[in-house]
Amino acid sequence: MPLATAAVVRARDHAFTLEEIRLDAPRPDEVLVRMRAVGICHTDLSVRAGRTPFPLPAVLGHEGTGTVEAVGTAVTSVAPGDTVAMSFASCGACPACLTGHPVRCAHWPALNLFGGSRPDGSPTVRGTGRHADAPLHGHFFGQSSFATLALASVRDVVPVPADLPPHVVAPLGCGVQTGAGAVLNVLRPETGHTLAVYGTGSVGLAAVMAARLTAATRVVAVDPHPGRRALALRLGATHAVDPRGADPLEAVRDLTGGHGADRALETSGLPRVLRQAVDGLAVGGVCGVVGAPPAGTDVRLDVPRMLDRGPRIVGVNQGGVVPRAFIPALLDLYRAGRLPVDAIVETFPFGAIEDAAAAAMSGAVVKPVLTLT
Ligand SMILES: [Zn+2]
Ligand SMILES: [Zn+2]
Repeated sequence: MPLATAAVVRARDHAFTLEEIRLDAPRPDEVLVRMRAVGICHTDLSVRAGRTPFPLPAVLGHEGTGTVEAVGTAVTSVAPGDTVAMSFASCGACPACLTGHPVRCAHWPALNLFGGSRPDGSPTVRGTGRHADAPLHGHFFGQSSFATLALASVRDVVPVPADLPPHVVAPLGCGVQTGAGAVLNVLRPETGHTLAVYGTGSVGLAAVMAARLTAATRVVAVDPHPGRRALALRLGATHAVDPRGADPLEAVRDLTGGHGADRALETSGLPRVLRQAVDGLAVGGVCGVVGAPPAGTDVRLDVPRMLDRGPRIVGVNQGGVVPRAFIPALLDLYRAGRLPVDAIVETFPFGAIEDAAAAAMSGAVVKPVLTLT
């Protein structure tokens, strides 16, 4: 049973503390990965703050990349020494998984959130020393990769080339694939379309980068943060709107001759912004929803206006992607200079995870990525 150093959240709103943990040996369908980099995502911080249900104490982390150290007896897709990206877990056997939609896996919540253990209840991580007998929760998104070693479900891992920078590979597994997939797989803007992206954190900026790969004519980034707007313009937005200085609804209408946006992506998780995104759609427009407010949050919509204008509102999980197909494609785009992921990343040593989390929460850094040697 291997030992590792993990960043543990002991209780709600507590700091990450580096502790020695003991991992279970890989089951037949599991892979032990020596971590090289792992991104910090909104969901990690939302769990720590108690806004996303997950049992604590826990090892979080769900955007990892590293080198395979050992594999279970049934694993044939990767071998020790391979470089892998880590994404989300899915069962592989339900109707959604069997038809190529693992993001809609019937067991998604249990496999990625909520449980804190394998589906059979067995823990993948345990504390050591004075924490040896207390429960510790892991298996977060099937990986719990805020650690020097992570025990992942085989369906989490995606073989990737070994020569790419780990800080670029890591955030593909959640934040970047969510934004890029929402645009490329779900919203699919057509020639002449206007796409409005509400919120330009890592997901929104990945969406902007992906929009540049489409034939959308206008890409409007809406964000109160001036640095984010400037970055969005550098990465492919054609217009940027400060929602504190102008009504984004009017701004989008003005830019589109009064029609509104054909496509919108709501990444902020704020119900009033989702309302703006829907109200700002052109007739027959589509709004993708990726921002996650606390469980139970609802939104008000103007129903008569919906009957007139026929908007579609689509919830999007993880960009609707199949990670094994999508992540290698994103890496090819990165290598070709067409998806400059490193423009949104800042690296921190693993031991500085608190600084990285603070930088993410303050907005000083778009995508902090922890690096391990
Ligand atoms: Zn995430
Ligand atoms: Zn499934």
